[in-house]
Amino acid sequence: MKIIVIGAGIGGLCAGLALRRIGYNVEIFEQVTEIRPAGAAISIWSNGVKCLNYLGLGSKISAIGGKMDSMAYVDGLSGDTLTAFSLQPLYDRVGQRPYPVSRADLQSMLIDEFGRDLIHFGMKLTGIEDDGEQVTATFADGTTANGDLLIGADGAHSFARSYILGEQKPRRYAGYVNWNGLIETDGNLSPPDRWTTFVAEGKRVSLMPVSNGRSYFFFDVPLPAGLPNERGHYHALLQGYFKGWAAPVQALIARLNTATTNRVEIHDLDPFDHWTKGRVALLGDAAHNTAPDLGQGGCMAMEDAVVLAHCLQSHSNGIEDALLRYQTRRAPRTTDLVLRPQEKRRHACDRYRGKCALVRRAQKRDRRHDHAGHRLQYRRRAVRLEHPHLGNQSWHCGT
Ligand SMILES: Cc1cc2nc3c(=O)[nH]c(=O)nc-3n(C[C@H](O)[C@H](O)[C@H](O)COP(=O)(O)OP(=O)(O)OC[C@H]3O[C@@H](n4cnc5c(N)ncnc54)[C@H](O)[C@@H]3O)c2cc1C
Repeated sequence: MKIIVIGAGIGGLCAGLALRRIGYNVEIFEQVTEIRPAGAAISIWSNGVKCLNYLGLGSKISAIGGKMDSMAYVDGLSGDTLTAFSLQPLYDRVGQRPYPVSRADLQSMLIDEFGRDLIHFGMKLTGIEDDGEQVTATFADGTTANGDLLIGADGAHSFARSYILGEQKPRRYAGYVNWNGLIETDGNLSPPDRWTTFVAEGKRVSLMPVSNGRSYFFFDVPLPAGLPNERGHYHALLQGYFKGWAAPVQALIARLNTATTNRVEIHDLDPFDHWTKGRVALLGDAAHNTAPDLGQGGCMAMEDAVVLAHCLQSHSNGIEDALLRYQTRRAPRTTDLVLRPQEKRRHACDRYRGKCALVRRAQKRDRRHDHAGHRLQYRRRAVRLEHPHLGNQSWHCGT
């Protein structure tokens, strides 16, 4: 059986490895000529690591993963530790430690394992045809490739998704901006084996150990979408957003290298049920695009890959049936993981808004107006009044 995989991200590469492992001929097509991972690092939680173990990558991931033994929440303003605890009981319970890893290291590990020369780079998928026996993929350069089935692991803006759903589903701004990067580990910022998160004012700053004396850092700040992204302003902006925060946060901001710091407006996509059409199926962010609050998007893509291979290993009732079985096994779990961060944010925003008299008044007024459109307008107006710098930008947090 020949399988076409579109996308050489975490999902496509893991799918390629899992399907090849059960004896199928897999070809991966990737639109870019050189993979540049979006984001500095990623935490591969125990479920994701177990998938990599299954793919025979256990020792390789542990070699490039950071050693995270405990976690702590720290009051961002005072610097007081709110809670700190060992993660060992969790690892004992689930039987696997997680690994925060540099994205570049992870991507290289997966590409090398699949075989760099076996990936067709610079091939952008622009068309899919399924005649019930074979799937034909057409690429931007006019060339085509045939396979018995096609896996769309083509990420958040998936072409394969619009083929399956018949429309491009709009992603939703999650209400916050994330800055992330790598920095030399420094015990004055966070102990080298600890995941530390500073929290206050609805914002957070996090530090996690990755390998080779480096730490992954990120800042999350609730902001409207579409603000200018000027690298040269990162220091000043973060100093402003985190004014008055504890010394380690100030030191981190002063020390970060803006040239290698990423800025991401966080989006997600409402879950949907149809992941397959005939001999075409979605995998990874193409199928479920979640905000990173739970650190599960990449881990879910790894789980998808393993379950897809299980479902295709025997396909007595045909390929279409095997793909439907894959969808049935995966969709409920990933739907839960997309919805959970949305719920969490809604509650956090409600709490934040609760502090604001204007918003409280707007909420009271909400209760007198049962028309949903009016409710939304009052809330947005109240938040704009409280945060005049938002201007006319839309503010999605909890509204
Ligand atoms: C700030 C941030 C932090 C995160 N942290 C974590 C974390 O800690 N843990 C975790 O598990 N997850 C995390 N995630 C989520 C994780 O990054 C994604 O879920 C994961 O990378 C998705 O992998 P993917 O292979 O499905 O998609 P992608 O990585 O987007 O790969 C898709 C590939 O398809 C290619 N492609 C797209 N269109 C076409 C086309 N038409 N033709 C050919 N190729 C195409 C793209 O170039 C790309 O290489 C985080 C996400 C963000 C934004």
